Amino acid sequence: MLAPDVVVWSLPMRTRFRGLTSRDGVLVRGDAGWAEFSPFWDYDDEESAGWWRAAHEAAELGWPAPVRDRVPVNVTVPAVDAATAHRIVTGSGGCRTAKVKVAERGQDVSDEIARLEAVRDAIGPGGAIRVDANAGWDVDEAVARLAVLDRAAGGLEYAEQPVPGVADLAALRRRTHVPIAADESIRRAADPYAVARAHAADVVVLKVQPLGGVRACLDLAERIGLPVVVSSALESSVGLAAGVALAAALPELPYACGLATAQLLTADLVAQPLLPVDGALPVRRTQPDPALVAAASADEALTARWRTRTAAVRAAAARADRA
Ligand SMILES: [Mg+2]
Repeated sequence: MLAPDVVVWSLPMRTRFRGLTSRDGVLVRGDAGWAEFSPFWDYDDEESAGWWRAAHEAAELGWPAPVRDRVPVNVTVPAVDAATAHRIVTGSGGCRTAKVKVAERGQDVSDEIARLEAVRDAIGPGGAIRVDANAGWDVDEAVARLAVLDRAAGGLEYAEQPVPGVADLAALRRRTHVPIAADESIRRAADPYAVARAHAADVVVLKVQPLGGVRACLDLAERIGLPVVVSSALESSVGLAAGVALAAALPELPYACGLATAQLLTADLVAQPLLPVDGALPVRRTQPDPALVAAASADEALTARWRTRTAAVRAAAARADRA
């Protein structure tokens, strides 16, 4: 890795998302180009090793050849009020699928109903609506809540990680007609195949950084044998390009992907961010723009934290590779 030095960036988010008000990370460069390394701060060094492998792959090897040149994407609607939700969908760049965050702390079912009704109004009868609860419910709650939200949305495409854990997903799936997608149960699980063995999901969400790179995800997708939705980890457009590369290389892509998240940041590191046009992203590698990278450069304290962390995670990845 030709990256003795790292470029540390920080970008504010438009709306609080996943408890975050800004996103930060590192750019590294290798023979194949620039890559992003940006594990969330609640991931420890061992868990962040996959994120490092993904960055290493992008920087040193590049990605497998695409089989399509555009990737349909969903607009992501955070836990915002109904009017804001409507505006986000209307301004999404033609997305025909919306993913709506639910089970947000401090909100109740009436907030979620209003949000879903607004999204349906904005996307029209032919659009698809999915919800993401980030494991925020228990099984009984999820059974009741999905019935209500399915009505409010005029039909849900699927519910992403409504409950924590593979056993709970499997139990819920037997008690609801809403299809189930597994996200956290894949990317933070010791055994990502447990979901398939337990018949716990209809769809799996794969994210390139947490799962260790595009090739690792292609391998995982083939072994799991369920439809895949590629989603981002809220990267800049440098990191998002890796997700686009995975979505472009999958043999089948039956659902819109969760890669239109550059919209959630107030700025980006590339001059032409990966934003949807007619509901899809173009398949292309992205180049950081020096002026934009300089504008996003982190302060000294954050830069020091990332240098320390990057070294520690690289060491953890090397230890794991030797084991
Ligand atoms: Mg999710």
